[in-house]
Amino acid sequence: MLALSHKLQVGEMTVEYLTDKQIWGHFNYIFSPKSKNSTTYKFVLIKSILENLYNVNEELELTYDILYTSFSKIYWNLVVHHNLNQINMIGKKAEVQKILLEIKEKYMIPNTFVFDKLSNDLQIEITTKVKKMAKLNVMGAIYGDTDNTIYDFDNKRESIKINPSFYSFMQRFQKVLTYLTNYHLALFLEKFNQNGDITNLLMKVENVSKRSSLNEFYILLSSFYNDKCFYCGKEIKKKGSIHVDHFIPWSFVQTDQLWNLVISCNSCNLAKNDKLAVEQYLDSLIDRNLDLTQNSLVNQRLDMKVYTEKKLIELYNYSKENGFTDLWIPHKKFQI
Ligand SMILES: [Zn+2]
Repeated sequence: MLALSHKLQVGEMTVEYLTDKQIWGHFNYIFSPKSKNSTTYKFVLIKSILENLYNVNEELELTYDILYTSFSKIYWNLVVHHNLNQINMIGKKAEVQKILLEIKEKYMIPNTFVFDKLSNDLQIEITTKVKKMAKLNVMGAIYGDTDNTIYDFDNKRESIKINPSFYSFMQRFQKVLTYLTNYHLALFLEKFNQNGDITNLLMKVENVSKRSSLNEFYILLSSFYNDKCFYCGKEIKKKGSIHVDHFIPWSFVQTDQLWNLVISCNSCNLAKNDKLAVEQYLDSLIDRNLDLTQNSLVNQRLDMKVYTEKKLIELYNYSKENGFTDLWIPHKKFQI
């Protein structure tokens, strides 16, 4: 292990190919007491990469802007919303805590506010500060723990490039890696939070990435498709019965991308719940997204810019591989 690797500005991958066994070994190390985890940074970085697995470009590159928006969101919700300490010393604060609490004070933001309730400008201000800190304290840490194998990072270009073997590993084991990371993050928080509210800690950690509202997506989708249910085609009359549904369940993707969101009626949304829809609807979503990519109003969005049909099909197949095998089909009388 390179002791100074967390101060590196650029890190290049030292190997091309990694076996599953080697990667499991790296994860075991990261989650073991042997790895120096004085803060929760590594857990939250892994969470942020998992959340953005399908936000990479063709070269498997992920920008710091996308990565650290997730990272900042998770931390804001942990530190400000749940008042949880992120360092292994009671009475001290991790750098990220100092940054967030300073902003909270400066604008007098109540801790009931989750990250997505903050204005866009404020989210950018937070992400910019957190990103700057992370260049020094975060990027090199996992890189060093894994013998410089799982990603390249470049603090000048502000992006990471994920090793293809590692990328495929994360796709195949996304669900179990999410569980594992949440579990270890909760364990750390439980140990170093005597005063904060640690009831249902694992549940808090599991939901820390969740948005409080998908309304911005509803407004967008509704402007193109009116209020027609994606699954049964029914016109939804009552505004209270309209849902924005994650086509690939949220519990798997843990993120909200326009290309994975559809308008759904109450009955379809409730019945589908945490399931995948049958393949026919994957085809409809591919067509719907083709529509969206041709629209100049939405194709400049960050999520749409990296969208490809191939990516959606991969995600669909990997969610089956990760245990989403109980496929849902709308009730006969509702089918299109
Ligand atoms: Zn419906």
